[in-house]
Amino acid sequence: MRPFELTAPLKDYIWGGTRLRDEFGKQSGLPRIAESWELSCHRDGKSVIASGEYKGMTLAELIDKHPEICGRACSSAEDFPVLVKLIDAKNDLSVQVHPDDAYAKRIENSFGKTEMWYIVDCDEGAELIYGFRKSISREEFRRAVEDNTFLEYVNRVPVKKGDVFFIPPGTLHAIGKGMLIAEIQQSSNVTYRVYDYGRVGADGKPRELHIEKALDVTIPDVPAYKAENHLKHNGITEMECLRKCGYFCVYELECCGSYELRENADSFMHLLVIDGEGDISFEGGSLHIKKGSSVFVPAGDETLDIKGNCSIIITMKIQEEKI
Ligand code: ZN
Repeated sequence: MRPFELTAPLKDYIWGGTRLRDEFGKQSGLPRIAESWELSCHRDGKSVIASGEYKGMTLAELIDKHPEICGRACSSAEDFPVLVKLIDAKNDLSVQVHPDDAYAKRIENSFGKTEMWYIVDCDEGAELIYGFRKSISREEFRRAVEDNTFLEYVNRVPVKKGDVFFIPPGTLHAIGKGMLIAEIQQSSNVTYRVYDYGRVGADGKPRELHIEKALDVTIPDVPAYKAENHLKHNGITEMECLRKCGYFCVYELECCGSYELRENADSFMHLLVIDGEGDISFEGGSLHIKKGSSVFVPAGDETLDIKGNCSIIITMKIQEEKI
């Protein structure tokens, strides 16, 4: 099957901004767009096919009809492994944590959530929360939430464009204001909110916290990973692996002119354009891509010809050394 474009469901959470509309071409009458779900078969928001013979169908419907387009990555939309989002944080997001598969299965009948952030853009001085500054006991954790001193314990990290953060389940985290992020995660929407800056939701009430579950799953320590910077400036076409784990394998293609991308027989690929523009040509057609474009490449063994000057985040399921 040929590659096709996807349209993302949009979320207008209270902390969002207008950059996804103004810079990334997302069409919406919403006053703000916090998230666009660029690759999603999740029940809370499904990507819709925007080009080709299946235009108008959800990606989930197509996968249930033609599971072979995922290769060996999954056999039905329900088991589709990943969710790729763009996130525009005009304000701070809540401080939160996600469970692993075992806990999520037992308590929520859902997958857990491992995630990864790529900092597409950020304001000068922007910072996020990533784990604790030092180890914290269960009692300290609970007391800090109750007496509103929780932020004194968190590890704040300044961010730069091109930084990659890996967030295994149990890692306390919060996206800070003034950053635009590409998030690659397990297909799950289970979030335990620990601290919300005392804000109220659309109904005027404080948004719910989930302290007991957060206490169950949070790793009470300094995080095991450090951010890595992957910003490229050298004007050379380059494909680089950003992060591999059991759930996803993420690359960045910096295309300065042209690149031949081989499809993979064992996994779909998802292309998210985060800068520039170009064209993708393949047997029987082509697609024009620009900042904000989302393209699904079914598993296969053909070669795609990418031309232009653009940066593309490529996500697939299996772990390849090189693509
Ligand atoms: Zn998260």
